[in-house]
Amino acid sequence: MTLLVRAGLLFTGTEEIEHGWVLVKHGVILEVGSGQPPKAGEVVDEPNCVAVPGLVNAHDHMYQWATRGYAPDGTLFEWLRTLYPIWARIDADTVRAAARAAMARLLLSGCTLSTDHHYVFPHGRTGIFDALIESARELGLRFHPCRGSMSLGESKGGLPPDSVVEDEDAILASTEDVIRRFHDPSPGSMCKVVVAPCSPFSVTPELMRDSAALARKHGVRLHTHVAETLDEEKFCLQRFGKRPVELMEDLGWTGDDVWFAHGIHLDDAEVGRIAETKTGIAHCPSSNMRLGAGACRVADLLRAGARVGLGVDGSASNEDANLAMEVHQSLLLARVIRGPSALDARSAWRMATQGGAQCLGRDDCGTLAAGKRADIAMFRVDDLGHAGVADALAGLALAPPARAQTVVVEGRVVVRDGRLLTADEDDIAREVAAVSARLAG
Ligand SMILES: [Zn+2]
Repeated sequence: MTLLVRAGLLFTGTEEIEHGWVLVKHGVILEVGSGQPPKAGEVVDEPNCVAVPGLVNAHDHMYQWATRGYAPDGTLFEWLRTLYPIWARIDADTVRAAARAAMARLLLSGCTLSTDHHYVFPHGRTGIFDALIESARELGLRFHPCRGSMSLGESKGGLPPDSVVEDEDAILASTEDVIRRFHDPSPGSMCKVVVAPCSPFSVTPELMRDSAALARKHGVRLHTHVAETLDEEKFCLQRFGKRPVELMEDLGWTGDDVWFAHGIHLDDAEVGRIAETKTGIAHCPSSNMRLGAGACRVADLLRAGARVGLGVDGSASNEDANLAMEVHQSLLLARVIRGPSALDARSAWRMATQGGAQCLGRDDCGTLAAGKRADIAMFRVDDLGHAGVADALAGLALAPPARAQTVVVEGRVVVRDGRLLTADEDDIAREVAAVSARLAG
């Protein structure tokens, strides 16, 4: 069974092809071309769309969809202190409802590959990690779930209350268990597990070090939050006498198998170290602006040759999971600190695709070329928001689309005519509203 995808304009990541097409078989791109296309079993023909590589979400906390709108004016630490006690009440059912909503919204924004950094495992609540993986399978999203963790509670000088932290031996055992059960290293994998202690202020240096060793033993990637706020920098200087990036490097947490969320408060030397060590950065502009955390030095990082992807971050600090919107936000935020030439639309699209794929270690995703996985997003440019814009690809970054028209993951059409085919969007909304109300108490 072959699939042919045709678009008015095809952006492969490097080339822009008028009336381009992509031929797909068994989830893999066979050929990319223009003009008269080959015959195929299934055809998606959208002359009024721009097709781009499927977007890659490099940072998220999907359970947070059930706790949107809290601490609307708080700093990161104030926001976290408000939310920790609510998050302490989550279980597998709430996580499933929230993850289905977050994943649906991601798919509808053109995202085809997403990570999820899940770090809240209340005592005695089983099945949370399974619920995330089952939701991604159901909705048809390529998924890199992180087994996150928190171990440094308030009584030991950490930020989270003791009720939401876990024992470190239990964390490592559970992490090894989910790698064994769910990590699929094979070509075209739809599920790769990541090891991800939450942040320098919620786990101990020992857990960071042990987690890195565990990940490297199993050949899986490492992810955590670094340099998100000045409060975090102050915490690290006071407790460890080191800046966050310096601390992470000392703990073995740099390299091409590591990517950090945020990386906002970096000095020039740190920008250089991030680039040299091929450590990835997941830039989350909406969340950073929502929390007033600061502006990531995207232009400087890209100029230094760093791997930079985009993330929606958890929707408790974004209130949405529209990854195409993050392309727009990244473009504007970079210009706030470095002027209008800081970042162009095509570079922003590349961050959202190739950049994210590099962070997640997927050289088979993020571009449209023969041999790559068939992950494709298509956006209308004949609708009220976009009709007549001079440069269609730049237009989609300057005026972000509300939703994708068609989305293909691993050669399977999962969004068509702007509707999710793998689940009922209205059911998802009803279910997540119910669990949000329950969590709110
Ligand atoms: Zn985060």
